[in-house]
Amino acid sequence: MTGRNSRDQALRERAHRVIPGGMYGHMSTARLPAEYLQFFSAAHGSRIWDADGHEYIDYMCAFGPNLLGYRDAGVDAAARSQMSRGDTMNGPAPLMVDLAERLVGMVDHAEWAMFCKNGTDATAMAMATARSHRRRRKILVAEGAYHGVAQWCVLRGDGVLPEDKAHVLTYRYNDIDSLAAAARAADNDLAGIFATPYRHDTFRDQEPVLPEFAAAARRICDEHDALLILDEVRTGFRLARGGSWESLGIAPDLSCWGKVIANGHPISALLGSDTARDAVTRIFVTGSFWFSAVPMAAALATLDVIEASDYLERIEERGHQLRDGLRQQARHHGFALRQTGPVQMPQMLFEDDPDLVLGHAWTGEALARGVYLHPYHNMFLCAALTEQDVRTTLERTDDAFRALRRRSGDTRAGKQQHANRGLGYDEEQVDHAT
Ligand code: PMP
Repeated sequence: MTGRNSRDQALRERAHRVIPGGMYGHMSTARLPAEYLQFFSAAHGSRIWDADGHEYIDYMCAFGPNLLGYRDAGVDAAARSQMSRGDTMNGPAPLMVDLAERLVGMVDHAEWAMFCKNGTDATAMAMATARSHRRRRKILVAEGAYHGVAQWCVLRGDGVLPEDKAHVLTYRYNDIDSLAAAARAADNDLAGIFATPYRHDTFRDQEPVLPEFAAAARRICDEHDALLILDEVRTGFRLARGGSWESLGIAPDLSCWGKVIANGHPISALLGSDTARDAVTRIFVTGSFWFSAVPMAAALATLDVIEASDYLERIEERGHQLRDGLRQQARHHGFALRQTGPVQMPQMLFEDDPDLVLGHAWTGEALARGVYLHPYHNMFLCAALTEQDVRTTLERTDDAFRALRRRSGDTRAGKQQHANRGLGYDEEQVDHAT
């Protein structure tokens, strides 16, 4: 077989025979433009290589876990060193206590920590802890918010019974009235409220949290003696070196962490305050790999960098460089590109593009030029991304816009300019950061 992506194609064909659907979950490229590669052979720093050996400047960071750069030397040395002593054993290594102490020291509300593997483990533990707290049933979640794939929270797919979600009520993010109404509907059975630090749903503009909404969530939990759960799985240590709502002065009772905490090594965590300590002690949770020492060593090394370096400021600087550059390019080429969310976790959607035709075409053109963007999911920047990387990215996206303009013709671009004006669209308004 020949062709630019012949290895990827051959792997997909083999996969279809032995992996249902060829791939599953967020790793499936089935909902992405056809040019998106399914398999990757390597990753280093800010770069990834597909199975056919093509290199990309990466803006997905493995959907979040890559914070410092792929295969960060310090983190991976710590992991290798622990690997030479032991990983999955009859009990945890001593560094489990170091890691719990470290996180408790870094996140204001936290007075204890428990470790697991994936974000779903942490959110499921938080849900059970909230129910255990006052032995109540009702859990409030924002409409459309992603908290993982356990039956109580999975957003779509077969295999979920109405009973699985019978005690899960929804509210609209940032809408205090709807939150209060959901709490009233839960009546004396309210166990807990889940919230993400800002609204980062797929397929839509990102929305910063309104401080009064965060305060209302805290107040309602206090009034009901229910637990406030902040799901930091996606945002953790990307917005702040501690909890994401600390700057608002709002402390949750529980917070869920995953993705970045070991820079890609498999570990997640539930952090809690003393209010929730008895409740969490009464639930039964565990897993064969939850106590493995290698990811804990990697987590400690990652947290060292988070505490001691300017990784966050550097990522933000690169994020602004990218956002400013793209804003100018989109304007220059006559496209209305909406960039929302914090610059370090950007979402990019075109105005007047409900079927993502432009989004798919533009990210596809960028991909062909060695820049890995996502057409409808928030992206992530890592600390290994350099100023030169972003400059190179912008040269390629400029070219991608040019190709998009050629593809869609002046009519489409004109329509975009019209959308820009006609809808009263204001880039500055949606260019917010939390
Ligand atoms: N919560 C949030 C906010 C997430 O973004 C995710 C994963 N994208 C999860 C929970 C679930 O994490 P995991 O995929 O590691 O189970």
